[in-house]
Amino acid sequence: MNRVLLLKFGELFLKGKNKREFLKLLKRNIVSKLNGIEFNLVETQGRLIVCEYDVEQEDEIVEKLQTVFGLIGVASAIEIDTLLENIEKQVKELDFEGVKTFKVEVKRADKAFFMTSMELERHLGSVVLGKNPHLKVDVYKPQVLVNVELRVNVKTYIYDKQLPCAGGLPLGSAGKGMLLLSGGIDSPVAGYLMSKRGLKLEAVHFHSYPYTSVQAKEKVLELAKEISAYCGKIKLHIVSFTEIQEEIHKNCDPEYMITIMRRVMMRIAQKLCEENDCGAIVTGESLGQVASQTMQSMNVTNAVVTLPVFRPLIAFDKEDIMDIARKIGTYETSILPYEDCCTVFLPKNPVIRPTIKRAQILERRLDIEGLIERAMQSKEVVEILEG
Ligand code: ATP
Ligand code: MG
Repeated sequence: MNRVLLLKFGELFLKGKNKREFLKLLKRNIVSKLNGIEFNLVETQGRLIVCEYDVEQEDEIVEKLQTVFGLIGVASAIEIDTLLENIEKQVKELDFEGVKTFKVEVKRADKAFFMTSMELERHLGSVVLGKNPHLKVDVYKPQVLVNVELRVNVKTYIYDKQLPCAGGLPLGSAGKGMLLLSGGIDSPVAGYLMSKRGLKLEAVHFHSYPYTSVQAKEKVLELAKEISAYCGKIKLHIVSFTEIQEEIHKNCDPEYMITIMRRVMMRIAQKLCEENDCGAIVTGESLGQVASQTMQSMNVTNAVVTLPVFRPLIAFDKEDIMDIARKIGTYETSILPYEDCCTVFLPKNPVIRPTIKRAQILERRLDIEGLIERAMQSKEVVEILEG
């Protein structure tokens, strides 16, 4: 008898060549997540199994596995050789204290076993009732669901609880994107959601030191660290926006200031994408949340880049974004009061419906190429390790 962790992944994507790729990545990501812990990982038809670990470390391992994208559930299970007497013995030993109703559910991938799933369910149900006469079977809403899985490796797995994992697709299965990471609530959530769809992340943060503080930068480092628990290691590019912001402030109409700032941010993000093999830009924008997040504003900012811009929060309410931020553990850091570069010299009435034409005219007053080149030279790179 062994204690193992049974891992489940969405079957939906398990087709042909994709399946091999998916599993290869998933396994690599699990191994990387459990770095430093002794264990073995085996694959048997439709399941991955973590075994040969120290039971004392099981909680820690489960917690880490729950952050692996591509897994949908993890169950701590007993592994035994597939023999009826072994299975009977195990279900007899289950603890039903304080429990009133139960159900046995059998999955029989091992078709060689002499009983059908239904026969075995009934049989094991009566074994449980024999040992625990106070129990009743409830096939619809049992308090305890005893899962018995007979796998093709001639092993049987028994468990009664499955914990949810992060879902989504294995990290890296969708390539790599560049996240525009501010110190706010939205962009870390946007990064998390894109990683959930398989996108690995690099990130860029713009600061306006000395207008913005050292703490503002540290806050962003902390946020990157927090999302790395899900998103894996992140190369964070920290770029000075000070001169750009001063020049825009000096030369452009105040109501277009944010529009032009965003256009410069996008251009730099695209440059970084090209240099670092990223195929998309990711932002935390949400339709209508502020003046710079109207359809027209996004059109004007998109116009300076050719790569796709992923805005996973586009249709989310702030409340819903905050819920996810709490769930992934970034909320408390995000609400720390350090200012973002976007709030420096903030105009009173930013334009709600900017036009590309007007933005282009105003930008002629700036040496955009030179500004971008100097900002790129200011770049500092921090490697955030997988959390
Ligand atoms: P957030 O909560 O993510 O800061 P926000 O609601 O404050 O978003 P904006 O300040 O308009 O909205 O920013 C919109 C998006 O632009 C952010 O989600 C982020 O992706 C990007 N962004 C804003 N400021 C910065 C910055 N200083 N560095 C990098 N990206 C930024
Ligand atoms: Mg912000």
